[in-house]
Amino acid sequence: MPQLSERTKPFTDSIIRRMTRIALQYDAVNLSQGFPDFQPPEALLTRLSQVCSEDFHQYALTWGSKNFRHALADKQSRFMGRNIDPEQEIVVTCGSTEAMMAAMMTVTNPGDKVIIFSPFYENYGADTILSGAEPIYVPLHPPTFHFNVDELEAAFRQRPKALILCNPSNPCGKVFTRQEFTIIADMAEKYDVFVITDEVYEHIVYTPNQHTYFATLPGMWERTISCSSLSKTYAITGWRLGYIIAAAPVIEAARKVHDFLTVGAPAPLQEAAVAGLRLPNSYYDALRQTYQQKRELFLSGLDDLQIPHTTPEGAYYVMLDIGEFGFQDDLEFCQVMARDVGVAAVPGSSFFREDIHHLVRLHFAKKDETLYAALNRLENLRKNIPYRKETV
Ligand code: GLN
Repeated sequence: MPQLSERTKPFTDSIIRRMTRIALQYDAVNLSQGFPDFQPPEALLTRLSQVCSEDFHQYALTWGSKNFRHALADKQSRFMGRNIDPEQEIVVTCGSTEAMMAAMMTVTNPGDKVIIFSPFYENYGADTILSGAEPIYVPLHPPTFHFNVDELEAAFRQRPKALILCNPSNPCGKVFTRQEFTIIADMAEKYDVFVITDEVYEHIVYTPNQHTYFATLPGMWERTISCSSLSKTYAITGWRLGYIIAAAPVIEAARKVHDFLTVGAPAPLQEAAVAGLRLPNSYYDALRQTYQQKRELFLSGLDDLQIPHTTPEGAYYVMLDIGEFGFQDDLEFCQVMARDVGVAAVPGSSFFREDIHHLVRLHFAKKDETLYAALNRLENLRKNIPYRKETV
């Protein structure tokens, strides 16, 4: 057999998605891969049932159907406080997964460097490698997940082409402050760097934190490629609807990449999702409250069990400190936990560049009853997972 490409060798399959398969194998409560187990808003479901008998079964326009782009531009203009042009400043993609990949291929040449904050959502590493670029990792130091300005500037001095900014952050739940953004923006300008954002949790932010769209910082519109999706906001991760918003010249190039990667996002789903994009602001307020309540429920349950954990400012992930169990290999810990406790988590090492293996990630985008079921099982954590003294 001929040799396969070198390109795929430096990374494994997604550990997040592997953990979902392991959860299924052991019938564990799956708090690993982040997706809701509750229904999308009624308005989307009603519209979805209608579109099947309407004329949306062939390709939509490659960069997104007109209805969808206009509804998205209306909604994002409202939240970003800037008028987004649906004809020139949007490309609709198959999830933000494609948006990020397309953004990376739009701005980097093989050999270019890209700054990634660590811990990071695992796709960014693979996206960088697949586009032939080289990651420079800058740590977000636990437990506050602040970056060190000197470490960041040292990365900028290596003349990267882009910086990836996940805000609110997966997996650490950090919401960048305006002050932190100003530091990043100043460096992006000084070193002439693009900023690629991943803002899929833009509407899941806990009081008193606020989401700031990096593109809206003074002077940043021209160098920011904003990626996001409808997956988390409307509980439709399986619909695969994402997008890039950026200045017209960037979008012109990104549309070409998108066109040849996937042609387009599913036409009937774009049409049905317009009903979500047209929801009033009260929907987003209610969404925030729902997640605020889920965070309190889950975190107070962990406190009752005396399991040490982070407190997210945004997104729906929490990292548990499993140091007390003495495992060297956090993937093994997650496998044992799925099998012997019945709760699936993601090993922290799949997010950290640093040698950190005492954290695992759980998410709480689940019905309350699912979260209670997980907490009930976690009561057996210490009983069912004995301390590994041979590994300390
Ligand atoms: N963003 C989610 C997570 O981090 C799911 C990602 C995915 O599997 N596409 O778990």
